[in-house]
Amino acid sequence: MLKANYHTHTFRCGHAGSFKDEEYVEKAIEAQFQTLGFSDHIMLPGFEQYKYRGNFDMCQNYYNSINSLKEKYKERIEILLGFEAESFPKYLPYYSELINNKIIDYLILGNHMSMDRFGRITSMFGKVSTASDLYLYYELASKAIKTNLFTIFAHPDLFLASVEVFDNDCYKISNKLIELCKQYEVYLEINVGGIRNGKKMIGTENRFIYPTDNFFDIVSLQQAKCIIGIDAHSPYNLTDYDSCIEAVQFAKKHDLILCDHINFKHR
Ligand SMILES: [Zn+2]
Ligand SMILES: [Zn+2]
Repeated sequence: MLKANYHTHTFRCGHAGSFKDEEYVEKAIEAQFQTLGFSDHIMLPGFEQYKYRGNFDMCQNYYNSINSLKEKYKERIEILLGFEAESFPKYLPYYSELINNKIIDYLILGNHMSMDRFGRITSMFGKVSTASDLYLYYELASKAIKTNLFTIFAHPDLFLASVEVFDNDCYKISNKLIELCKQYEVYLEINVGGIRNGKKMIGTENRFIYPTDNFFDIVSLQQAKCIIGIDAHSPYNLTDYDSCIEAVQFAKKHDLILCDHINFKHR
């Protein structure tokens, strides 16, 4: 049904199922994907985050495993090696090294949290409750987009996950972020993970935490490019066709420009 998925995690992050990388490839072939991109939560030198991302010493194993699957399956499916990474200013030079030295094929921006200069996590953007956190989300995301290192903005409306009223600040931030994505050719992701988790009461509204109608109405107005990302934490997410169909319907409902594959900036 989908041609490509660029948002796939592995057991290394500590909160995905304990499947082998190859099981994701097998399921992707079963689902008739032409491309499967691995984008595990980035493992960072000098920073550990238990149950959130793998430790840095797992990195080489990730590269070796995905690169050998690339080779093994090359006649059947295109496999890409990437990371989902936060906008941590301290680590942006590291990301640039990974891309420029072609160690990885691509980066997707998952602006989950902020880090201060001491390497401490300060805000979690799935639980934004103040305008200053909203603006911090915007600042960090725009800083990352402007590096030109990222090709996809994963769940770009994560900052709205627990926001009850889409006010003027939300509108302004959404508008500016979408504009930037257009300018830097970053695809906005319709995240199937949010759809899989079902709707929740947020304020008076029963909705997905993401994707959100308010945000994607603006994406539609601005005619920015979108891509569906399965955000797989299990190989079975790749063959969960119902959730994928719902994502396609979401795109249709909002009249979005839905791309079925990406030509990566850095390859
Ligand atoms: Zn995850
Ligand atoms: Zn994410």
